[in-house]
Amino acid sequence: MMQGFGSACVHAGFEAEEHRSHLTPIYASSTYLFDSAEQAVDLFTGKEKGFIYGRFGNPTIEQTAAKIAALEAYGLKNTHGTPLEVKAILHASGMAAVSTLLFATVSTQQKVLSHLSLYGGTQELIDKVLPDCGIQTVLVDFHDLNAVEEKLKSEPSIALVYIETPANPTIQCVDIEAITQLAHQYGKKVACDNTFATPYLQQPFAFGVDFVLHSTTKFLNGHGTAIGGVLLGRDIEFMSTRVTKHHRLLGANANAFDAFLLNNGIKTLELRMQRHCSNAEQVASFLSNHAEVAFVNYLGLEHHPDAAIAKKQMKHAGALLSFEVKGGFEAGKKFINQLQLCTSAVSLGTCDTLISHPASTTHVGVPRELRLQSGITDGLIRMSVGIETIDDIINDLNTALKK
Ligand SMILES: *Cc1c(COP(=O)(O)O)cnc(C)c1O
Repeated sequence: MMQGFGSACVHAGFEAEEHRSHLTPIYASSTYLFDSAEQAVDLFTGKEKGFIYGRFGNPTIEQTAAKIAALEAYGLKNTHGTPLEVKAILHASGMAAVSTLLFATVSTQQKVLSHLSLYGGTQELIDKVLPDCGIQTVLVDFHDLNAVEEKLKSEPSIALVYIETPANPTIQCVDIEAITQLAHQYGKKVACDNTFATPYLQQPFAFGVDFVLHSTTKFLNGHGTAIGGVLLGRDIEFMSTRVTKHHRLLGANANAFDAFLLNNGIKTLELRMQRHCSNAEQVASFLSNHAEVAFVNYLGLEHHPDAAIAKKQMKHAGALLSFEVKGGFEAGKKFINQLQLCTSAVSLGTCDTLISHPASTTHVGVPRELRLQSGITDGLIRMSVGIETIDDIINDLNTALKK
């Protein structure tokens, strides 16, 4: 019988070890014993499954990866009608997962097709690192499917289509299914950064994508205790050979301590996401009616340009929103300084409500005109709504907006 998603969050991936530890323990060991020279040969040739060396994996890391694979494939079927199986590889960070993906799927003289709204680190990687390796990126607005098809047609060297939805920090959404169908028509592989949604809200494999990745630092860990990433693929053979090779040789491996924290964090994913989402919905509605707020950018509000796409592919509009405080740059700074409960910090997806004022922090070095072009206005506040008691979050915002 298939278990519910919440049960899979708690139990998937777990395998009891010989001492019967009820939690997946931390395997703090860099290397593993061989029983005999013959066994070493079998392990190295893959004839026997087992652990060899910490950079290649260990039980804490494997069980955590298996849990995430079960959640991303949850309830999905492959083309033969049997349960979909995907392979997950845990990484040192979200950026490590992006790097393994790009280097394993795109070679010199080939191109990546992506869109304008990407996580800052991913954007810098494609701007500053990939060109040195002879890999160029073509950017197009993924809302414009004709433009996407035009690029796929005119640029035969595109090897990978890279989607991030909802995107960081604009919360824009693009249609995973439509873009994936187009890309597959032209024989291209598709990857989707699912960090903002998590498999609770959105399963990109349901729409046919080839790879899914996360910064596990955010909602999957959920408590802000460790940096981490994961890369998943539906082609198990490709994941086990070329992707595994890149992961090992780039030194992109996770460590057992962080994997332990992640594994336990994911157990409450469903509960946390439900609370994050209902809190965010109430915060968005409160802010929409506040006299000191010029506008609210939340996928759950009907006037949001991507509301329909979000509704099509996500279970709920999620926990991220942004809004413009009336009064510009100084008003934005003043608002942040008045907060008592909400935490002023970058990052997102922790139990605590995290709030930032991009114009005075992450984007302070970006010329104002450029910043405005990417939608980051002077009084814009980004908010990752936490799981605190909703009345306390709203009171805190209300008090800070009044002062
Ligand atoms: C944070 C983030 C990343 C990068 O992850 P790190 O764990 O910081 O390396 C990638 N994509 C998205 C959407 C993110 O929010």
